[in-house]
Amino acid sequence: MHTGSCLCGEITFEFPNPPARTGVCHCKNCQRQAGSAFSTIAAVPKAEFTLRGTPKRYLDSNTASGNTVERHFRGKCGSPIFSVVAAANDMIFVKTGTMDDTGFFTPAFHVWCDSKQAWVELDDSVPQRAN
Ligand SMILES: [Zn+2]
Repeated sequence: MHTGSCLCGEITFEFPNPPARTGVCHCKNCQRQAGSAFSTIAAVPKAEFTLRGTPKRYLDSNTASGNTVERHFRGKCGSPIFSVVAAANDMIFVKTGTMDDTGFFTPAFHVWCDSKQAWVELDDSVPQRAN
């Protein structure tokens, strides 16, 4: 079982199977939400994702793609926990820094590399999309 929680521990989640996809988003809004250089993401089918606790939801509509991203986070401690996008609304995009064991994570793609921070060097064997 893959498990995770927010910083204060009041919100927990789990999913049983390896994620459908794992990757890194370098969009500016992920940088702002994470307060860091990028988001590390695991795509998990909604039907396999069990959430305990109630995150706050921010509807992020000022995005580079123009599509609204639902950003779910813990209001008390600030941890970004997962996102949902309309184009793949059967999936949960987990912010993998919240997971108890991140050993499974290897990025299989990089997206929004146009806004990648300059110091971040990518492995050229991993597919990269500019946007
Ligand atoms: Zn992003």
